[in-house]
Amino acid sequence: MSMILHPGASPSCAFCKGGGLEIKPVDELARAVPCRCLVVCPRCRGSGFAADPAGGRVQNRARCACSVITTRAGRFDAGRIPARYAHCTLSSFDLTSEAQVRVLGAVHGWYKARANLGDPEAIRRQRGVVLWGDVGRGKTHLLIALLRELALGEGATVRFVEFSHLIADLKSGFDRGDGGGDIVDPLVKVDVLAIDELGKGRATEWELTIVDELVSRRYNALRTVLATTNYEPTASTGVEAPNLAAPERRPALVDRVGDRVYSRLREMCDFVPVGGEDHRAATPARPRKPRTPRA
Ligand SMILES: [Zn+2]
Ligand SMILES: [Zn+2]
Repeated sequence: MSMILHPGASPSCAFCKGGGLEIKPVDELARAVPCRCLVVCPRCRGSGFAADPAGGRVQNRARCACSVITTRAGRFDAGRIPARYAHCTLSSFDLTSEAQVRVLGAVHGWYKARANLGDPEAIRRQRGVVLWGDVGRGKTHLLIALLRELALGEGATVRFVEFSHLIADLKSGFDRGDGGGDIVDPLVKVDVLAIDELGKGRATEWELTIVDELVSRRYNALRTVLATTNYEPTASTGVEAPNLAAPERRPALVDRVGDRVYSRLREMCDFVPVGGEDHRAATPARPRKPRTPRA
């Protein structure tokens, strides 16, 4: 579960490091596109199949690495990651505080543990992660970085969805008179679903019922859920909506997504706090560490 080298890429390429892909914003989405260093694959001459290294006969030809990479690029694209997050990787995460070092360690640890499981059934049973904390701490960056590793490193099918966009889509589906199935079904099927900004926006009881159906179906199918939220995974505070006049009285996650969705997520996921300084603040509190490029 690590980057495969493309036989037609240059291992010393600064853009793909031999993986043969670059992630670029294309229209609204981040896309995995062939790297500028690529030449016609010398191993399979572009057929996608190469002689078995064990010396197999022509009819026993195995899939070439270049063809596996093309499939994974398609899986990354199908994740529908917004263009503005095309730069997000684990190694490009800003480490401006101890808290950020800790959360990066936790996220790395989750991905490594998954890689070490090996067995696809065990991978399916791995608990997901909910990153929670105040805005501007890099939660979405980490979520996207994980999806990137999962699609390109593991070859998992992935999908990114923003909670308030999902709610808006359900709302317009309901107005058209459909039950939300067209929207929910593809989100049930992917190996890993990432829900950003869980609890953001006003959801009606009907919309939360559909979200509950989505989460429950994934739970029953043993499929991984990753999420971020600005709300704390504590007991209900009885506060329904954020209130600028009384910012200290904040809703808990359960107040925003309801009991059923919240308790299902607690069963399926580990909750990881994301602290540290606001990445969106105008000046960082201390100089940023130079980063070594990802190997
Ligand atoms: Zn390259
Ligand atoms: Zn090839």
